[in-house]
Amino acid sequence: MIRKYLAVSFILIGFQAYSQQDPVAVKYATTITTEDLKENLSIIASDAMEGRETGKRGQKMAAAFIASYFEELGLTTPVNGSFYQPVPLFSAGVPVVTLKSGSMEFTREEYMYTGSLATAGLVDVPLLFVGEGAEEEIKSVDVKGKAVMFLLDPGASVMNNPSIRAMRDQGASMVFAVIEKEDDFKRTTSMIRGFAGGRLSLTKQPNQTGNTGVFYLSAQAAGKIFKTTYDKLKKASTDKKLDKIKPSVVSYSIEQVYGEIKSENILGFMEGSDKKDEVLVITAHYDHIGISSRAEGDKINNGADDDGSGTVAVLAMAKAFVQAKKDGEGPRRSILFMTVTGEEKGLLGSRYYTDNNPVYPLSSTIANLNIDMIGRRDPNHKGSAPYVYVIGSDKLSSDLHTLSESTNKTYTNLIFDYTYNDENHPERIYYRSDHWNFAKNNIPIIFYFDGVHEDYHKPSDEVDKIEFDLLSLRTKAVFHTAWEIANRDSRLAVDRKK
Ligand SMILES: [Zn+2]
Repeated sequence: MIRKYLAVSFILIGFQAYSQQDPVAVKYATTITTEDLKENLSIIASDAMEGRETGKRGQKMAAAFIASYFEELGLTTPVNGSFYQPVPLFSAGVPVVTLKSGSMEFTREEYMYTGSLATAGLVDVPLLFVGEGAEEEIKSVDVKGKAVMFLLDPGASVMNNPSIRAMRDQGASMVFAVIEKEDDFKRTTSMIRGFAGGRLSLTKQPNQTGNTGVFYLSAQAAGKIFKTTYDKLKKASTDKKLDKIKPSVVSYSIEQVYGEIKSENILGFMEGSDKKDEVLVITAHYDHIGISSRAEGDKINNGADDDGSGTVAVLAMAKAFVQAKKDGEGPRRSILFMTVTGEEKGLLGSRYYTDNNPVYPLSSTIANLNIDMIGRRDPNHKGSAPYVYVIGSDKLSSDLHTLSESTNKTYTNLIFDYTYNDENHPERIYYRSDHWNFAKNNIPIIFYFDGVHEDYHKPSDEVDKIEFDLLSLRTKAVFHTAWEIANRDSRLAVDRKK
């Protein structure tokens, strides 16, 4: 056996400098099958899971499925005898707001506030009128520390408006956006009310950095604030005679209201052998964006790719490692298989794990392999050979990058596309999925991703669009990387910054 092994590897090294395959690793990689992946994904991404929105029934059902899968495999329960790590979250409701100008108090039919600011009681703020909020209008006045009011262009975006951003950038302490038509105003206020409760956070602390929020005002209320009429505001704006509108003062108080949401990360642990104190963490988020009540037809965002694909990949790897351990070939280091919640709400589940309750010390967490969407192709790779975007492998550890490259060449030969690994890439993917919470703690990470496709965050992200051969091959690539990391002699060196 050994002779033959050496001879073969000599030839291969002479040819391509690839290392020889470890037949034991290959044996357990082959337990990762398209059938298994498909069976599990058909459950995780079924309509019954209702899009797995954090804190909702579908998320809980998916959690129960994953936990029972870990239990059947015989993984260890890491959290006080359970696979469940409770993640307490807070949802911001509709804030309690008072809005006044002098002795005049506005009614809830005249305005709608959205934002996370909280004031200490009623605050008086000088108010300027800046017409339609064109950039030159904003720049021509000193808005710092003042509230500014502008007339919202009916065709412009209400929620993601460049004028609002420009005013904040100039230091405005509050923005009032006036919606001319009553119908538009009503639609906006009901939309904002509809969003309430969807914004989740790990703490109750209101966010006061930069984004103070926006008051949307009816045309009539806008006139009243400046002791004039809406038509006069509009005329001053069109005539470019903003000085005709004398500055005013507004008073407002904002109190944030929170509901409590219970969610959970699901953790399954496998103890290593001679290096069991060092832990490799393999993650995927199992939550998704739930039901889109405004969508036509199918309203359930199944999230088969995002991130059902990563979730079933984690299950398949857990199964493979369990089989290896049963056969006496278990990993030297420990492995934590963790499917996290709240990713779609802002990487909350992974942040809770690293910031609030790392069940295994971060100092002995040697790496995180994170998977978010690996079952599809993006438009740039429609006819390409099997590929995956690889992000972050070289950021903290040159060991990890070398290992990742050589493992892939030896076993899976995927095209590793490093487009999103570029620090200057506008998508900044390195900071946008759960691995970031490990990377920010100086733990080397690799993030695997298939790119953004036409069904991203839509009800059409369905199981029948998954390429299971590709999903299986990518899962094997992650598996072999995990196998190498868990079994190599030395711990991965952290020798780079960011
Ligand atoms: Zn995702």
